[in-house]
Amino acid sequence: MDHTWYYYAAAAWALVGLITFVYLFKQTAPYGRHTVSGWGPQISNQLGWMIMEGFSPIFVSFWFWMGDSEKTPLNLFIYSLYVGHYVYRGYIFPFLTRTKGKKMPISITFSAVFFNLMNTFFIGYQLGFMGGREDIPLWQLVLGCTLFAGGFLIHFISDQILIRLRKPGETGYKIPKGFLFEKVTSPNYLGELIEWLGFAIIAGSMAGWLFVIWTAANLLPRAYSHHTWYKTKFADYPKYRKVIFPYLF
Ligand code: NDP
Repeated sequence: MDHTWYYYAAAAWALVGLITFVYLFKQTAPYGRHTVSGWGPQISNQLGWMIMEGFSPIFVSFWFWMGDSEKTPLNLFIYSLYVGHYVYRGYIFPFLTRTKGKKMPISITFSAVFFNLMNTFFIGYQLGFMGGREDIPLWQLVLGCTLFAGGFLIHFISDQILIRLRKPGETGYKIPKGFLFEKVTSPNYLGELIEWLGFAIIAGSMAGWLFVIWTAANLLPRAYSHHTWYKTKFADYPKYRKVIFPYLF
C-alpha cells in the first residue's frame, strides 16, 4: 500500500507543532500555576490528567493491533515504551500529585486529548500498518535505551521532588531545591525531552521525531513561563538557574 499521504500528513502535523511552539510563548496553557478564568467550564485537576493522558495507551494500541504488520520483538518493544510512559502519566501520576481542590479548563483537557489522538495515530499507524522498524544497529539500541531510561529517571525524580514540596492538603508553591533543580527550573521537562529523544532513536521513524518536535513545542515555552513566574513570585529565586538546559537556556 502506498503511504505517501502519511508523510505529507506528518509534515503538516510537524508544521502545526512549530506554530504551536511560537504560540505557546505568547499564550501559556492555562493549567497548574497558570490556570486563569475565561477558558470555560473546569474539571478536577486529577480527573483532567487522567482524561488527557489515559486515552493514549488505548489510542496507540488500537492502531498497533489493528494493523497487519508483523508484531516483531523490536516493534513490540517500541510500542511498549510508549504505552509504559503513558500508563505512568495517565494512571499513576494523577494519584501521586497533591492538587486536591484544584481545577483545569475542560478546553485544555480536550486539546490535550486531540494532541494525543494525533500523535498516537502517527506512532501506532507506522508500527501497525507500515511495518514499523525492521532492524536496529546495536549502537542505536544502546544509545536510545540509555536516553530513554535516563530521561525517564530524571523526569520521575524531578516530578517527585516537585510533588513532595507540598504536605498533604497544601496547594501553594515553594522553591524546589536539590538534584537538577540546582541547574534548571524544569528538570522534569528536560527529562521528558531526553526520554523522547531516546524513543525517536529506537523507533527510527518520522513518527518518533514528530513526537520530539511536539514535546519540545509544549515543554520549552512552558518551562520558560515557569521560570519567569518563579522570578516574579520569589525575590530569592536563584539567579544562576537556567530555564531547562543547564548552562545554556
Ligand atoms: P509542573 O512541573 O508544572 O508540575 C508538576 C507537579 O508538581 C504538579 O502537581 C504541580 O502542582 C506540582 N508543582 C510544580 N511546581 C511546584 C512548586 N514549586 N511547589 C509545589 N508544587 C509544585 O508540570 P506539569 O503539570 O506542566 O506537567 C506534569 C508532567 O507532564 C511533567 O512531568 C511533564 O513533563 C509532562 N507533560 C508532558 C507534555 C508533553 O508534551 N509530552 C506536555 C505537558 C506536560 P500544580 O498542578 O498545582 O501546579
